[in-house]
Amino acid sequence: MATLASAPSTSLRDTSIRTISHWINGKTSPSTSGRFGEVFNPATGAVQAHVSLATVEEVDQAVKSAHAAFTSWSQQPPLRRARVLFRFREIFEQRLDEVAAILTSEHGKVLSDAKAEATRGLEVVEFATGVPQLLKGEFTEQVGVGIDSWSVRQPLGVVAGITPFNFPAMVPMWMFPLAIACGNTFILKPSERDPSASLLIAEMLKEAGLPDGVFNVVHGDKVAVDALLQHKTVQAVSFVGSTAIAEYVYAEGTKHGKRVQALGGAKNHLIVMPDADLDQAADALVGAAYGSAGERCMAITVAVTVGNGTAEALTTKLRERIARLTVASGTEANADMGPLVTKQHLDRVSGYVQTGESEGAELVIDGRKAALPQGEGFFLGPCLFDHVKPEMRIYTDEIFGPVLGIVRTNSFDTALDLINEHEYGNGVSLFTRDGDTARDFAHRVQAGMVGINVPVPVPMAFHSFGGWKRSLFGDHHVHGPEGVRFYTRLKTITSRWPRGLRAGVDTTMPTLG
Ligand code: NAD
Repeated sequence: MATLASAPSTSLRDTSIRTISHWINGKTSPSTSGRFGEVFNPATGAVQAHVSLATVEEVDQAVKSAHAAFTSWSQQPPLRRARVLFRFREIFEQRLDEVAAILTSEHGKVLSDAKAEATRGLEVVEFATGVPQLLKGEFTEQVGVGIDSWSVRQPLGVVAGITPFNFPAMVPMWMFPLAIACGNTFILKPSERDPSASLLIAEMLKEAGLPDGVFNVVHGDKVAVDALLQHKTVQAVSFVGSTAIAEYVYAEGTKHGKRVQALGGAKNHLIVMPDADLDQAADALVGAAYGSAGERCMAITVAVTVGNGTAEALTTKLRERIARLTVASGTEANADMGPLVTKQHLDRVSGYVQTGESEGAELVIDGRKAALPQGEGFFLGPCLFDHVKPEMRIYTDEIFGPVLGIVRTNSFDTALDLINEHEYGNGVSLFTRDGDTARDFAHRVQAGMVGINVPVPVPMAFHSFGGWKRSLFGDHHVHGPEGVRFYTRLKTITSRWPRGLRAGVDTTMPTLG
């Protein structure tokens, strides 16, 4: 999505600026590439750090370290692996404020939202501490006379996670807790825009007693991603990011024989029926559209109204609520919305606002003219479009900023068809008081995560998260039971002991007859 701002190579770089290194084999590993990316403070616009961008050799070093750690880690009893995660959970919770401060300083989201992100990540750790139960196999006694059969799930080996900028703690935590609880070793390639949380996590895992090499971090861009996708030792790749890159990662990873789950972009619709509680719907829409400045894959970006009366009443209520939102640095106590992640991303989102106007949608609220903090920060106020049409780019494209569009329809079926015909199918929601309509919606809608009077239906850690259509490439959703399946492979054993029945040589396939 956002394009990478490159820092000058080593010789020209301002070395007074903090450098963010890789984490390989239990310690920080300074860059040898001489290539760096710039990490901004989005609230001020200042460069606050330079992040190392890994070479193929550095990725190989991380893979070798993970490979060396795999045999011993995978042989640990699941309960012992779970205990490391229990300790990590305690340490992480104690340092939650520190994690949140890092997220706000590099991503820009408000502190309360940063804490909520970290907490949602922690819930996956809590789920993963139950891994002894999750890895229990299935057993059948007497599949034949004197013969038993059972199935077990075993770890894959070295697995990798490639993550986006918008949840620098939570999305990696969708992946590594279950991956390592299942006995794999892990390499994280976090977003180069906000990479520091991953290093804090690495330190905390070490403090919790995780053996060196089980969790590694390589920072980087396409060079690092391609090196992971093409490395023979890497068995599986979990990716979360934009659809174009997700599709590429899926194609390239599977071409190289890997198991891949690649979660992509979204355009999440919320249908408002004429019988809905419109105050509740308006509250929900404002939170879901503008929270985290719209930089959430589960943000609602399209409100689909059924009936003109619904649209008129809803627009009035949205205007009132949007007028009360405060756009400020995420560290300000009264901030509802922080800045966008980079200047390039701000320009891209503002460009879409311009596009929407030229396409003929009605710009009811123009966030470019909102009361915004002074200075060089990457701020944009909440934007609201009405009379958005399905052929407009502001409808078809994922904007990934604080831009909500209203599409007016006259029937539930037309509203549902809109969702089902859209290329994305991540999250959807319906606001109604009618149980029949709600059931029909949940049954027929083409999307992976469905809310009924719930605007952002993000599944809890013990369920699984994932979209349909071009919002996910691969078979498995992340975390929950699907995560366990993704990070393990099935082995089925059939066993007979020598004193059992002997029938002599038989060349036909055994049956129970
Ligand atoms: P992005 O696709 O630009 O980057 C994601 C990752 O891919 C990063 O680690 C980045 O370094 C890497 N990458 C970028 N360009 C690459 C290339 N050409 N080749 C190989 N690797 C490359 O996404 P982003 O801007 O960081 O994040 C926002 C996007 O992520 C949005 O589209 C959002 O919907 C999506 N997202 C989806 C989910 C989900 O669950 N479906 C969750 C969070 C974010």
